[in-house]
Amino acid sequence: MILRLRSQQMHLLREEARKSLPVEACALLFGRLIDDEAIVTKVVVAPNLLKSKVRFEIDPQTVFNAFEEAELEGLCFVGLFHSHPAPARPSAVDIQYMKLWGKAVWLILSSIKGNLAAFQMNNDEVIEIPLKINN
Ligand SMILES: [Zn+2]
Repeated sequence: MILRLRSQQMHLLREEARKSLPVEACALLFGRLIDDEAIVTKVVVAPNLLKSKVRFEIDPQTVFNAFEEAELEGLCFVGLFHSHPAPARPSAVDIQYMKLWGKAVWLILSSIKGNLAAFQMNNDEVIEIPLKINN
């Protein structure tokens, strides 16, 4: 699986992560799943209910509304974004949640280093997947 993101969306996510510091920022990613590509066409920024520097929990009403709207627009759920005050890879807690979210792609931004990386569960193992930024 490859995650495709437009540079405009990447800037939006970076900006959101910067604004919410020191709290972790989070967002839902929607778009299209074609063959082995997850193409993000819509980013829904969601408040972090925990207001935590190291944990996040997306407001369930925001999740519900976003899924309903995406369905009307014919978009698929692609995955989740959040920022981390650590390297851009899933924490032990993230991995527990990743198991619950099935094939969702997890896009993580390190608020220290500024880099982004994407991950997915594959047979109970976390794998990093290629992230392509398009204009
Ligand atoms: Zn995390």
